[in-house]
Amino acid sequence: MGRGPFAFASVAGMKRIGLTGGIGSGKSTVAGMLADAGFTIVDADQIGRDIMAPGSPVLAQVADEFGHDLLDADGVLDRAELARRAFGSEEATQRLNSITHPAIREEAQRQFVTAEARGDEAAVYDMPLLVEQGLHELMDLTVVVDVDPEERVRRLVASRGLDEADARARISRQIDDATRRAAADVVIDNNGPKDALAPQVEALIAQARAE
Ligand code: ADP
Repeated sequence: MGRGPFAFASVAGMKRIGLTGGIGSGKSTVAGMLADAGFTIVDADQIGRDIMAPGSPVLAQVADEFGHDLLDADGVLDRAELARRAFGSEEATQRLNSITHPAIREEAQRQFVTAEARGDEAAVYDMPLLVEQGLHELMDLTVVVDVDPEERVRRLVASRGLDEADARARISRQIDDATRRAAADVVIDNNGPKDALAPQVEALIAQARAE
């Protein structure tokens, strides 16, 4: 993957920060703190929802592939039913990913280019699959939020209302923590209370601004 003009290019010197972590690690919490500090956030999950808006070309492709009955009369997607059809097998998951992943990447790149053109000092790519997709290699700084998997299960059950088996299944489908950590320039340890995040995020901001 090159660093061409559409590969999260940095011409004017905007800092590209990749932010990732396993589900339930506190990625969104850290992204919120970085947004409060004035950093631009490019949110892959949000883009994933936006590209499936009624009438979008990506949604049309998804309907062609997984069934037009997934859309109601207003063209709104039944996400739960799509998940049932697409996440039941590896093959179907890949068929869905082959439609959505390039579209998410293209929109993320567009947002990076826009941020850079606006003169933003830094843009953060909040992306669960950053390391899986090798996108950390395109970032100036890769940040991994790290929490023991058992604690992540507890938090997902307590605050997101997932049932325990579902939380464990989702964690086991992701890349393992050691591999993700190995790709990090900065590891944020979120095993402790939320209060322990602030000094780590402040140090990260100082590092991002200094380099
Ligand atoms: P992610 O975006 O990585 O999936 P979130 O930021 O949504 O994770 O965090 C998962 C849940 O855990 C949220 O409900 C969040 O408020 C909570 N959480 C985050 N950090 C902590 C912490 N240090 N202690 C307790 N709960 C936390």
